[in-house]
Amino acid sequence: MDLQTTPTRIDLKRDERLLIEWADGHTCTYTITYLRSMCPCALCKTVRSGSDPHQLVQPEKKKTSLTILPGNYTGTLTATHAEMVGGYALKIVFSDKHDTGIFSFRYLREICPQRPAPEASSA
Ligand SMILES: [Zn+2]
Ligand SMILES: [Zn+2]
Repeated sequence: MDLQTTPTRIDLKRDERLLIEWADGHTCTYTITYLRSMCPCALCKTVRSGSDPHQLVQPEKKKTSLTILPGNYTGTLTATHAEMVGGYALKIVFSDKHDTGIFSFRYLREICPQRPAPEASSA
């Protein structure tokens, strides 16, 4: 068992944030907007890589209005539903009807917003 990727408590405030306490004692707090923008599904990965300003844009492949850009929402983004998937991940459905985001605990730990700096010395 990997303590860093084993949640001991999961607390979702649908209109605010997701809080996860890990077995190693660390607590992560993710805003819903942050989770939406970091959605690990194939579509969002493509959107994220496609929004790279350093990437060349081909005129023929102009993006249509169907593309959902992270952070581009009307109204407040909330999580309408969340459920455990196979004991290793959390599936989160967002209020913009996006429901393909499966956040594995490993991934959630990776994208920890409060991750200490790599050079952090003794506390
Ligand atoms: Zn954290
Ligand atoms: Zn997604």
